[in-house]
Amino acid sequence: MGSVGHTATGTRTRRRRRVLFFSLPYQGHINPMFQLAGLLHARGFAITVFHTHFNAPDASQHPAYDFVPVQDDGMPADSPDTVQVTVEHMFALNRACEAPFRERLAALLEQQQQHAREEDVACLVADAHLLTLMDVARGLGVPTLALRTGSAACFRWFMAFPMLCDKGYLSAQGVQSPVAESQLDMPVMELPPYRVRDLPSAASGATHGLMREVISRAVSAVKTSSGLIINTFDALEADELASLRSDLAVPVFDIGPLHVHSPAASSSLLQQDRGCLDWLDAQGPASVLYVSFGSLASMSASDLAETAWGIANSGRPFLLVLRPGIVRGAPPTQQPPQLPDSFDAETRGRGMVVSWAPQEEVLAHPAVGAFWTHCGWNSTLEGVCAGVPMLCHPCFGDQMGNARYVDHVWRTGLSLDGELERGKVEAAISTMMGSGESETGTELRGRARELSRRAAESVAKAGSSDLNVDKLVNHILSL
Ligand code: UDP
Repeated sequence: MGSVGHTATGTRTRRRRRVLFFSLPYQGHINPMFQLAGLLHARGFAITVFHTHFNAPDASQHPAYDFVPVQDDGMPADSPDTVQVTVEHMFALNRACEAPFRERLAALLEQQQQHAREEDVACLVADAHLLTLMDVARGLGVPTLALRTGSAACFRWFMAFPMLCDKGYLSAQGVQSPVAESQLDMPVMELPPYRVRDLPSAASGATHGLMREVISRAVSAVKTSSGLIINTFDALEADELASLRSDLAVPVFDIGPLHVHSPAASSSLLQQDRGCLDWLDAQGPASVLYVSFGSLASMSASDLAETAWGIANSGRPFLLVLRPGIVRGAPPTQQPPQLPDSFDAETRGRGMVVSWAPQEEVLAHPAVGAFWTHCGWNSTLEGVCAGVPMLCHPCFGDQMGNARYVDHVWRTGLSLDGELERGKVEAAISTMMGSGESETGTELRGRARELSRRAAESVAKAGSSDLNVDKLVNHILSL
């Protein structure tokens, strides 16, 4: 497709190049996709966003883009909250959208033929979990680039999955053979710093077969594409990126952290409570613990109680995000989720609870001194950029591996392993936020600030990610 001699940005442009996007319809995938679209739009590309009706983006936030809804009949209506349901949801989405996407894309290409002198489609950038839709695009002659919204380490783990099964770290028998509890703390020698328990399918044999399929499809999506775009940066994952580059035949563009790099407008699916920014304005510097578990993770009612009492007993100011539906099995009448009876009285004047926050702005606020996170990759990167220490309580998928990097490789936070328990929570908060008395806390905060500086450097002019965006633009123009 396309032709030589066109720049996206400027002077010699005779035809404008259009980049098509298709994201997975979850918050942690939609955000980086819009951030990438923002970057490419700023470089002169026209943007078309294909999307499902499920979790459709708000087109009014992005008036310069075209939006194409794709019928998704048969998709489950609820957001997934476990690895098994998420994977089944992704398979359902690939199936449901295959034919409607083909129809919509063919119509767009036909329309484009009629305006061939002004504009042409350069490529489709699709989430690496949308192999079926990438196949459709390539079948219609549109080159594809795969977008990975997780870490480089996570994709390296994807590529190593068959080897890990062969070596016996993971059970290859699937549903009948979960990995024994005693093996979970074994180091994965071929893939440091992971332990077996950090691998997404380790704890449950029930998800093993599904994981194998979803991983092999994502690897195949990347290998059959014209390149891999990944939301990370060289100073954060230099070895992991080097390993991907040596194992993949396609170019790898690490261009993150996208949320700092891109001029994207908000792509939040939920209404953000901006009142918490005013509340933060009234708090002292680095005094507030910000607590959020992302858009999909859920917890039991007793975990919520331990979380609440750990925060209350720490005595620190806090901003707690309790998304509707975060408590597993709670009746719809318990919205917002119910905190323990005397929590409000115990913490009056010291904290704020919201159902959804403008997280990037919250983390960048000088009043925030630490971040308790579930370690979704976006939240992890946002915490890294904010330069605050992180308390990690991962729930599923890649979150355990991300937490392992925070507490073991970058050493900018602490992991809360095992059952949530208020005493452990209180102690960890006090280590991270204590004023001077804890050497560990001082070191954590120092390393977090240093990593944030490296993140800022990577997206500054001539930083590694900035240069990779130039390479990506040239690559797209060459397709
Ligand atoms: N987020 C937000 N407000 C909140 C909590 C989360 O805007 O109150 C955003 C957060 O900034 C991040 C995304 O939701 O960009 C969550 O993505 P992540 O990969 O961290 O986790 P997931 O939701 O996929 O588990």
